[in-house]
Amino acid sequence: MTRIPLVDLAAAHAEVAEEVEAGFKRVLAETAFVGGAEVAAFEQEYAAFSGVPFCVGVANGTDALELALRAVGAGPGAEVILPANTFIATAEAVARAGARVVLVDCEPGTYLMDTEAALAAVTPATRAIVPVHLYGQMAPIERLRSGLRGRDVAVVEDAAQCQGATRHGSGAGSGGIAATSFYPGKNLGAYGDAGAVVTTSPELATTVRTLGSHGGLTKYTHDLIGMNSRLDGVQAVVLRAKLARLAGWNERRRAAAARYDELLAGLDVVLPQTLDGNEHVWHIYCVRIPGDGTPARRDEVLARLHAAGVGAAVHYPVPVHRTGAFAALGGSFPTAEAAAPELLSLPIYPQITAAQQEAVAAALAVALR
Ligand SMILES: *Cc1c(COP(=O)(O)O)cnc(C)c1O
Repeated sequence: MTRIPLVDLAAAHAEVAEEVEAGFKRVLAETAFVGGAEVAAFEQEYAAFSGVPFCVGVANGTDALELALRAVGAGPGAEVILPANTFIATAEAVARAGARVVLVDCEPGTYLMDTEAALAAVTPATRAIVPVHLYGQMAPIERLRSGLRGRDVAVVEDAAQCQGATRHGSGAGSGGIAATSFYPGKNLGAYGDAGAVVTTSPELATTVRTLGSHGGLTKYTHDLIGMNSRLDGVQAVVLRAKLARLAGWNERRRAAAARYDELLAGLDVVLPQTLDGNEHVWHIYCVRIPGDGTPARRDEVLARLHAAGVGAAVHYPVPVHRTGAFAALGGSFPTAEAAAPELLSLPIYPQITAAQQEAVAAALAVALR
């Protein structure tokens, strides 16, 4: 039986192995383990790739969100609006920044945050909205921005799943501030935890860097109560090598998604939708398995795929308000609640072959019977 993983990190490493090894030697020679020349170079390169002037490398994506929220003043006493259908880290970052989590529902076709619901949830206490660019495509942030015009509410984009994605030609963060994650499985993945904040604002960039470096930019100066969240030299080496290939890798993901669209067209599954104006980067290829309102059928299909060697997964099985951590929030978000038991993610990565995708489609057809 051929095993087809959800993501193939070994295949990605094979493409960058020589550069990474040479870079690790440079870091060892310099003993530049936290920060240093590789980190500074990566920050410049990632800012340029993102079409923004500033990038601050941090320890992970959750920290990146927390730091961006703190930088825009979304702390104690503030409300922050985010979608119920997201990875838990979006909500965790808001709670850790000290703000109140305010959830809204998602859209039925794309599972992205319902922008109108987010705008309707704004109160005088709202300090930020966090649209999540889920699965690799951007949320309609132009509508969010126009709806917020004249109000003192920041848009802090959760760009963890969309490195390289654009909407009407612009990437995440180009309108203000965005947080991203370089967790190994992301489109741009490190060899451990890493993340970054990108922004057009020199003031926000400085605040994020200060907060992430014990509240000061020079040693033993502590102007703010900060934290320790910085990017490591070895991670910067990996990220530089992979960033040089990311546009090509995203192109290969788009080709793979188009192939799935064709291969799955006749099956009883709902295919993912792309919003007009979006260049999708397919971090996740998420289909929907129609069920009876419980996860029973989807879980059965998932188990059959696993038995057939296909590394399918679920993003995400439990909406934020149904997790133990955030159950006290309560609330009802019918679209997210209806989607969660039916979502199923198929293997996708730049190196996936046509034969592997055909095997996935064949296994899914059998599993659906
Ligand atoms: C991965 C992810 C994060 C958090 O990133 P970490 O680096 O794992 O802390 C936040 N939001 C979303 C949508 C993610 O997918």
